[in-house]
Amino acid sequence: MSSDNCIFCKIIAGEIPSTKVYEDDVCFAFNDLHPQAPTHILVIPKDHIDSLDKAEPNHKEKLGHLLTAAASIARDKGFADAGYRVVINTNEDGGQTVFHLHVHLLGGRPFVFPPG
Ligand code: AMP
Ligand code: ZN
Repeated sequence: MSSDNCIFCKIIAGEIPSTKVYEDDVCFAFNDLHPQAPTHILVIPKDHIDSLDKAEPNHKEKLGHLLTAAASIARDKGFADAGYRVVINTNEDGGQTVFHLHVHLLGGRPFVFPPG
């Protein structure tokens, strides 16, 4: 299921170019265009969901899949032991700008908490 005029659905469909990092039946992962860390990858569900705010009980498995995929990518890239940050910006105050649910996977430098 894709949503018209969603840039991330277009990336999954190959209509907008991206640098693919990982793909399986459920998710697609690619480098962020404006990286905020030495490694900045977006992990997105292949089926369009607007945001975490729109997640429903039947999305539980998909959401878990996104997180385990992010952890697996972090191990593959070699920065899991050092540590990393996973972020899901949600709606306006959360800083969400693209309304196709995505997990930011950031690694390669230390992060502070709380974030800005
Ligand atoms: P958010 O602000 O949490 O909605 O994150 C959206 C992210 O998508 C930002 O980090 C953008 O840099 C990234 N982004 C937007 N367009 C593209 C694109 N065409 N390819 C890769 N990353 C993108
Ligand atoms: Zn979409």
